[in-house]
Amino acid sequence: MIVGLGATGLSYARHISRTAPAARVMAMDASPSPERARALESILPGAQVGGLDAQALARAEEIFLSPGVPLATPGLQAALRQGVPIRGDLALFAAQAQAPLAAVTGTNGKSTVCQLLYKMAAAQRQGVRLGGNIGTPCLDVLAKDASLYVLEVSSYQLELAAELPTQTAVVLNLSPDHLDRYDTAADYYKTKLALYDHCRQPVVNRALSLNKSLGLELEGAVSFGLDEPPAEQDFGLRPLPDGFMLVRGSRPLVHSASLRLAGEHNLANVLAAIALGERLGLALAGMVETARHFGGLPHRGEHLGKVGGVAFVNDSKATNPGAMAASIKGFAKGRNLLLICGGQAKGLSFAEAAPALGNHVKQAFLIGQDAGQLAAELPPSVIAEDCGCLAEAVSRAYAAAQPGELVLLAPGCASFDQFADYMARGDAFRQLVQELQQ
Ligand code: ADP
Repeated sequence: MIVGLGATGLSYARHISRTAPAARVMAMDASPSPERARALESILPGAQVGGLDAQALARAEEIFLSPGVPLATPGLQAALRQGVPIRGDLALFAAQAQAPLAAVTGTNGKSTVCQLLYKMAAAQRQGVRLGGNIGTPCLDVLAKDASLYVLEVSSYQLELAAELPTQTAVVLNLSPDHLDRYDTAADYYKTKLALYDHCRQPVVNRALSLNKSLGLELEGAVSFGLDEPPAEQDFGLRPLPDGFMLVRGSRPLVHSASLRLAGEHNLANVLAAIALGERLGLALAGMVETARHFGGLPHRGEHLGKVGGVAFVNDSKATNPGAMAASIKGFAKGRNLLLICGGQAKGLSFAEAAPALGNHVKQAFLIGQDAGQLAAELPPSVIAEDCGCLAEAVSRAYAAAQPGELVLLAPGCASFDQFADYMARGDAFRQLVQELQQ
């Protein structure tokens, strides 16, 4: 039984067609699209498709669960009580993968770090495969000739892969997110930190290891952070008058101004990627060279150019308050920011973003379903107006901006109330900015 017929669901289908082609397969999805159903039929001819059905779940021999469907769904819990095994793709992946695995999780920065680590490794080795949450489902990247897997893993996937063996792994950072799926932030943190349970050469964020309540005492770990490294094997920053030197112990690696990525959050990402690569045996000098040329991924702090002296940055992927705060701090210079934010707040509070908002945001232009919540939680120094939709927010922000200022889309919220996903939201923003440029 495949539950959830998205990208992961179809990767389960391909996995079954490779490993147990004679199995009788059924796929369930709350709203199965005809396109996905056709794709399933072409992979596993004769497989049935239906809506979520608790009785069928309880009768299944084995359930393959997609990360988009909560394990807490009553039908799944009932099936578990009946003794039906529920598996996730990471566990299936781990059972088959022959090459070492580098796994990246955390609240924010996962895709950036995975992409950078992948590029660093691929520049130095053959057979490096990238997958997981970042795009291609992990079961689809399995290959006999792989020499290394770099996987982005989400907390939902980790719920079903408590024993994922990794060569190296990192929990980049933790801040509240997905409280629509977890009872408390502590439950969410615990799920992520379980990634360290079976890791040979962990990489840890010093800010997290200092937080005693997380109980993160890892033997043999290498640390990274935005402060000076405490030991020679650790990674950090040495402040300079014109930025920072990224360092390993006392050894300088690269000046922050030589990197294409902007913002302190991205310095943390670069340090984490280099630390992971070092644990995998990659050469430091080569990794630094790759990092210098890495321009980041679309929708994550993407510079869209200037109109009338006003700069526009697309950080549509800032979908929680932690990312929003990092984005504001990363791109602000003083108090020059006009922020476009809002969407679905996922039950999160914006209290942790308040200092960044108060220090840097001149004016906020609110969109989407939870604009009211944001308006109530913004610090009083921030002038805010509810614009309803993104087009209106862009037009009002541009009208209010002075040359030299920056309009930043860092919504701090999910996009699903108004867009298909964060990419559609970022594409719409880019389009609106292009129209201003014409
Ligand atoms: P993820 O895959 O975890 O969502 P991304 O690399 O796609 O992470 O980045 C998503 C957003 O998170 C970025 O657009 C930026 O706003 C924010 N971000 C990136 N790296 C960090 C970091 N190290 N700490 C805090 N926020 C970050």
